This record gives sequence, C-alpha cells and structure tokens, in this order.
Amino acid sequence: MTWRATVLTLFPEMFPGPLGVSLAGKALASGLWELEARDIRDSATDRHRSVDDTPAGGGPGMVLRADVLAAAIDAADADQGRPHLLMSPRGRPLTQSQVAELAAGPGPLVICGRFEGVDQRVIEARNLQEVSIGDYVLSGGEIAAMALIDACVRLLPGVMGKQASGEDESFSEGLLEFPQYTRPQEFEGRPIPEILTSGDHAKVAAWRRAEAEALTRARRPDLWAARGGQKGTKSTTDG
Ligand code: SAM
Repeated sequence: MTWRATVLTLFPEMFPGPLGVSLAGKALASGLWELEARDIRDSATDRHRSVDDTPAGGGPGMVLRADVLAAAIDAADADQGRPHLLMSPRGRPLTQSQVAELAAGPGPLVICGRFEGVDQRVIEARNLQEVSIGDYVLSGGEIAAMALIDACVRLLPGVMGKQASGEDESFSEGLLEFPQYTRPQEFEGRPIPEILTSGDHAKVAAWRRAEAEALTRARRPDLWAARGGQKGTKSTTDG
C-alpha cells in the first residue's frame, strides 16, 4: 500500500506547496507517496460553516470546535490503524526516530490547528497525539505538518537517490552531522581539510566521527548527554 499523508486543515490550498517541488514533489508525481488535504470546514454544520467559537472561561482569540473537528477526523478516517497527529506547540518535540517510525507505517492523519488551538475534548475523544516542531509558536499547523511530512517522505524507499545518503545524517546515531566540503579545493584562503582528500577511507571515517561527536557535544549537550557523553575531540568548525 502506498504511504499516504492525510492533512486536515482550514487552508487546503496551502498543499502541496513546498511538498510539490524537488525531492518530495518528484516522488509525489511518480506515485511513491500520496497526499490528501481535506478542508475541516466541510464538516461544519451551520449556515455560516463556522468551525470556531470563543474560549470557555474567557480570553482572547477563538478555539476550533470539538464537534466539527471530530466530524472531520471521522470522515477522513477510512483507514484504520493510522497515527492521528495534532500539530501543537504543546506536543512532544518531533525527533528523527519518530519520523522514521512514521515513514515505516501507512502514513499519518495530520491535523493542523489554527486560532488559539483546539478544544481539549476532541484531543481526548479521538486520541490525538500532539506533536511540536519546536519551542516557538506558528500561526497555524500547516507549516509544521509540511515539515513533518517532508521529513517522512525523504525516508520512503526510492525517494532519496542514494539510499545511503540518509544513513550518516544528523541524528542518525544521536549525533549531528560532520562538516561537508566540496570543490573548489580552496575557498577564500580556506582549504578542504587535507584528510578528506587523502584517499584513506578509514582515516576519513574516523575524522568524520570525531567531528560529529565534537559538534554534538558543543552544540547539543542534551543529545550528547542522552548518548551517555562519550569522549570526543574538538571540532575544527566550532569555537
Ligand atoms: N495558543 C496556542 C498555545 O499557546 O499553545 C498556540 C496556537 S497557534 C497560534 C495555532 C496552531 O498552530 C496550533 O494549534 C498548532 O496547530 C500550530 N502550531 C503553532 N506552533 C506550533 C509548533 N511549534 N509545532 C507544531 N504546531 C504548531
């Protein structure tokens, strides 16, 4: 079965957007994955097609209604067993291992919030898993959904030209990626590190490993601590 992302949004016209170009776009056009963007407003029941209302208890802004969103989820949910994700700054931060898990499954139903968020009761009643893409607040869940879907799609079989290109990447072993270089041999007085042009594959691998460890330790002590903080060397790219 083809991997499919179903997105529930008030702005279906935002899709495929960036997912329609480059790697993800080519894969979409060639049928390696499918994208369905559904309008939450189609599940509104009143004359004005309203989807939101004022927050109970007062306060600014509007809240997406539980009944409308639940109806949209139920109408989209023909496939059983798909993860139901709600993009939300309150969610668990998205990680590469979660992305890999999602890519290995049938593809998620992704709900994009707007306004002040969604009524808590639909989160509970439809068992929505809240997912954040970082500690900042976007105006809607669509860009967050695109980030999540893009990260999944590039891991699908046949999408990346060379399957190996996913293996050494940042986070693949709980480490950030080593620095990359390409021609010219010298740029504004900065040569490519000699070891990378030595042709000694074992030395190149050891250098990259040491750089990845040093970068991770310097920039992401949280990731470093999670791996148990192994000894590394100082990076040439970090101060
Ligand atoms: N009032 C909410 C709060 O303080 O948590 C913020 C709501 S935000 C303006 C509107 C919608 O954007 C959210 O419901 C969510 O779908 C999406 N969103 C905003 N920031 C996000 C983030 N960091 N990760 C994932 N989704 C986000």
